Amino acid sequence: MPLHQTTAFILRTYPLSEAHKICVLLTRSSGLIRGVAHGARKMKSRFGASLEPFTEVSLTYHEKEGRELVNISNCEILHSYFHYTSKTENAAALSYLTELLCEFSPAHETNEKLYRLVIAIMEAMAKQSNLDSLLRYFEVWLLKISGFFPDLNKCISCNSEIAQSSGVWLAPDGAPQCYGCSGGRGITISSELKRSFEAMLRNNPANFAEQNSPTEHLNAIGDIAYRLIRRTLERDLLSYNLMNQVQAEIKLI
Ligand SMILES: [Zn+2]
Repeated sequence: MPLHQTTAFILRTYPLSEAHKICVLLTRSSGLIRGVAHGARKMKSRFGASLEPFTEVSLTYHEKEGRELVNISNCEILHSYFHYTSKTENAAALSYLTELLCEFSPAHETNEKLYRLVIAIMEAMAKQSNLDSLLRYFEVWLLKISGFFPDLNKCISCNSEIAQSSGVWLAPDGAPQCYGCSGGRGITISSELKRSFEAMLRNNPANFAEQNSPTEHLNAIGDIAYRLIRRTLERDLLSYNLMNQVQAEIKLI
């Protein structure tokens, strides 16, 4: 049984019989893994609070040949976001992040950029309240890291560079086109909106959130990012609709 040590974020846990839990984790060294935490449901569990969602832990686990589930032997808390997740809108946002991570991270595949994105987004979320900016940042970067975000500076049809002062049009499959090739059809990304996307790709999440992008830009970015996500996954995400409902209700209060 090979022994592995790495850092990881807890994404989800499920009960397994009366005493154990199944955990879904995003690890630094092996991407997404599923494992059993023996005794984690007992009152005096050695895992304590380390299995709360989005806790970053120092993880030790054993892999059994031919089995998908690993055996989690130790979890030490490195960073806890328990306080942050106690707010309803934050918890709803993190469920959405979890569903995205589970869908976009192939199992047992290292993805250092993705792991670093989760660290940066959690640190930024815990420090500031600009949740919309940070969610949009995460969606766009997740698509980019996974190879599903288009290059907004090049027309895919005529291969020409698209000037900074020009808009770009996305075909239904997300392919970017210049005005001449698209005939103005498709999703319009104005030059101003293109600059907001570029600001996102140039900055870390905390810096991007501090820029307080206009709400209409964030809404447009969210709309485009979610279209690309839905097209990539070929389905809607339950947690996305739930998160939007929670946010709408909070705005009414
Ligand atoms: Zn073109």
